[in-house]
Amino acid sequence: RPRVLSGIQPTADSFHLGNYLGAVRQWVAMQDTHDAFYFVPDLHAITVEHDPRTLAARTRNAVAQLLALGLDPQRCTLFVQSHVPEHAQLEWVLGCLTGFGEASRMTQFKDKSLRQGADRATVGLFTYPVLQAADILLYQADGVPVGEDQRQHLELTRDLAQRFNARFGAVFTVPEPFIPTGIAKIQDLQDPTAKMSKSASSPGGIIELLDEPRVNAKKIRSAVTDTEREIRYDPEAKAGISNLLTIYSALTDRKVSELEADYAGKGYGDLKKDLAEVVATFTEPLRERVRVYQDDPAELDRVLARGATRAREIAGATLTAVHERIGFLPPK
Ligand code: ATP
Ligand code: MG
Repeated sequence: RPRVLSGIQPTADSFHLGNYLGAVRQWVAMQDTHDAFYFVPDLHAITVEHDPRTLAARTRNAVAQLLALGLDPQRCTLFVQSHVPEHAQLEWVLGCLTGFGEASRMTQFKDKSLRQGADRATVGLFTYPVLQAADILLYQADGVPVGEDQRQHLELTRDLAQRFNARFGAVFTVPEPFIPTGIAKIQDLQDPTAKMSKSASSPGGIIELLDEPRVNAKKIRSAVTDTEREIRYDPEAKAGISNLLTIYSALTDRKVSELEADYAGKGYGDLKKDLAEVVATFTEPLRERVRVYQDDPAELDRVLARGATRAREIAGATLTAVHERIGFLPPK
């Protein structure tokens, strides 16, 4: 079975619909076809300013949501990044193989540092892609299912793997970028030209999985659309309506063309009202399942302890091989 690895940051209390439809839904399916590793990258979450009082709770919440959405610790390895110290250790070695200019060309750093203000951007944010390379290479992953926004980081990962292998001997599997086609990319409800994002969207722009139905219904009602009346999929001219149709279609497994036919002659208000119900039908039972996991932190901790043990077996073997090739004196 090919091995895949992917993660979701604990940068908010709740996942949003984009996280589910664009990522976690595929992760659930891949448990049956792949040797799947999923993790909560808390080391990455502190590359931007964060609140230490909420990070642990958000990390547990992320795990509760992943389980409630269908990850099964019997069929995948689920862990928290900081529980596996090999990530930070390999990051150091890879950082010593990364050119300063090479790292400076990463567009996510440029974007996120601009958003923070250039003087407040940290060295951690700068080396974020190197840590991401370590995440992937530690597990010898064959594929990394990520969104289009992560393509450049994956290229860096491949370059670093090839560079290490060429200079010190073959240790790393060179991973293939695996950007699934036909996967929904969900846009911000208030700014349908930008992606829905945990940390960058305004509250009105995000549909949070853990919000109450009436809160999400209100956000959907207020979603930015155009001044026409026709319900038609056209992401260029009608980004807002197209985004609503994408969400509707992804949650009901109905074709966009069917929805267009159904809503011929109806108004935007009808579409929004029905979509709010579709969303509630998905989120209500989910909220209940998440609550069950949240109410049992001891069980979550057990799941994570098992996940970390399994992850460390593989990560530890890779790191030992790396240290050997680099020429470090082995501890006795
Ligand atoms: P942040 O704003 O903190 O970066 P995020 O919403 O971008 O948060 P991540 O934790 O960075 O979420 O990404 C988790 C996964 O969700 C990734 O695989 C990413 O490609 C996917 N993803 C994030 N936003 C969307 C979106 N709007 N549509 C589809 N997939 C998305
Ligand atoms: Mg992101």
